[in-house]
Order: sequence, then C-alpha cells, then structure tokens
Amino acid sequence: MASTLYRKGDDLGEIRGRFAPSPTGEMHLGNAWTALLAWLDVRKHNGTMVLRMEDLDPDRSRPEYAEGIMHDLAWLGLDWDEGPDTGGAYAPYVQDERRELYQRMLERLIEADLVYPCYCSRAEIQTAASAPHGGEGEAAYPGTCRSRRGGCKNRKPALRIKVPNKVISFEDGVYGRIDENLAQTAGDFIVRRSDGVHAYQLAVVVDDALMQISRVLRGDDLLSSTSRQLLLYELLGFAPPSFTHVPLLYGEDGHRLSKRQRPLALAEMREKYMSAEKLIGYLAWKAGLVDCWQAVRPEELIDGFSLEKLTREAVVVRYQDFS
Ligand code: GLU
Repeated sequence: MASTLYRKGDDLGEIRGRFAPSPTGEMHLGNAWTALLAWLDVRKHNGTMVLRMEDLDPDRSRPEYAEGIMHDLAWLGLDWDEGPDTGGAYAPYVQDERRELYQRMLERLIEADLVYPCYCSRAEIQTAASAPHGGEGEAAYPGTCRSRRGGCKNRKPALRIKVPNKVISFEDGVYGRIDENLAQTAGDFIVRRSDGVHAYQLAVVVDDALMQISRVLRGDDLLSSTSRQLLLYELLGFAPPSFTHVPLLYGEDGHRLSKRQRPLALAEMREKYMSAEKLIGYLAWKAGLVDCWQAVRPEELIDGFSLEKLTREAVVVRYQDFS
C-alpha cells in the first residue's frame, strides 16, 4: 500500500494564514477563540492575514452574518490584510464569487477520470457544502455508485472523488503525526452536490491553494477533514500548507460552544458591557498565554504566543463568567 507523508514547516516563502468563517450565524466565543489563535500565529511570524467568507451553502449563509463577523473581528482588534472589504491580490475573498474557480478545478479532476456521478442519499449530499463539524456526514461511503452504469433519469447526480487505498500522513502542529487511509474512513467523498453546489472540501483546498495560504490553523473538529484535503492538493497538483488544529471551547455540559448559546454571542456580550480587551484576556487566559483573566489587547499577546502552550484537551468555559 502506498503512503504519502506531508510535513509541516513548508513555510519557505511568505507566511500567509487565514480565518475562514461561515456566515451562518452570529459570531460567538468559540469562533473568537480560533480567530484569535489563527491571528496570533500569523502575526507572530510577521505574516499576512487573510479573511475569507465561506458562504458556499446558499441555504445557510446570509450577508448580514458576514457583516456581523467582520464587525465583531474588528471590535476584537483582530485585523486582516486581505479580505472581502479590503480586497487583495487573490480577490475575491467570498466563496459565492469563486464558484467558477471550483468548477474549473473540478473539471481537471473529471478529465483525469478521478470523479464519478453518485445517485445516493440526498441527506448525505446536502451536508457536503458545510465543513463537517462534530461528525455530521462522517460515515464512510460504501462506494455504491463507483461501478454503477447509467444514471437515474429523473435525478441529477452528486460527484464523488475516487479515493485511493493508501495512507495519507501529516504532522499536525498540535496533534503530531496523523495517518489516515481514506478508503477505510471517509470513502469516496463528495466534491459537488447534486444541486451543483461545490463541496466544502473542494472549495477550501482551491481557495487555500490559490490564495497561497502557507499555514492553516483551525478548530480540531476539522482535523478529520485534513486527509481529504491533502488528497485533493495532491490530485490538483498544489503544494499543501502546514496544518494546526486547536482544541475547541466546551461548555460545562460537555458540549462544544455553539451558535445556539445566545449569551456567548459576541454581540450579546458587547451589549452587556463586556469590553473587547476583557474578552481577549479571557481567551488568552484559557489558552495559557497569561496567568490570570485581565483586560489585554491582542497585539500585547504576540511576543509570548506559542502553540506549545496549548494542550490537546478541550477548554471549558464557565457560563457564569459571562452572566
Ligand atoms: N468555514 C469553515 C467553518 O466555519 C472553516 C473552514 C476551515 O477553517 O478550513 O467551519
């Protein structure tokens, strides 16, 4: 069985990192956590910070959420050098305006006979445009349509990638070496939904590659997407970035913080007179960057920032800290 090892530390040229939120709800403490860490990682290396709106799924994304996210980031003091409002050399920075690029890259894969039509389960196919947080849509596809001849006349197919039977390995900045054989885990995954919407897995690779992103830092719920993305880098002939997955914030109930927890929405906190510095200070304290919870500005954290200070354990937030 063949194996491919992707190493971290491929940052030979300019350091470029990104924050890639989906505008499907209000920004909450958990999003601020990953945004702060990604920002610090870039600023620590004097790199370029890119903000990209991942509004691929037309049913779930709303422009007012995108506006809100940019407002919240600016309020927190987490700035960006390239983005939907500022523009930059790799514009546009909004996925909805980049669909043609995804299609062009998909055609490369189709021409190389790496993709096939799939007429299976609609529910599974619908979730493909969103990043698979918390395990949705994670069951391995058994390959039903790989050898099917002819389609169903009354149904448009989704498109799946032919996943090779080989181990993909990479060094994660927090988790260390990860080995995964996609044929045994995800199976042939979706690159375009039956309604023509491109999958998150394809779009994120096309965007990070074309935007020359050299470091990806994001929540560890996306750790399980990375091998799929590395396969697409390889098949499309792009050099991959380094990957670092950080532990997420959890509530005391053991659940990942979510958009449903209104008191932890940044807008709500602001209304309750929480200052941006106090909030940044809280996250810095949880990340082990400062010894106690006090007001601090993001730039004051740059010098002392180190990923080594982060543990792999879930970081727990006490709701009463914010009530
Ligand atoms: N847009 C994705 C999300 O909000 C993140 C994608 C990524 O960082 O790769 O969950």
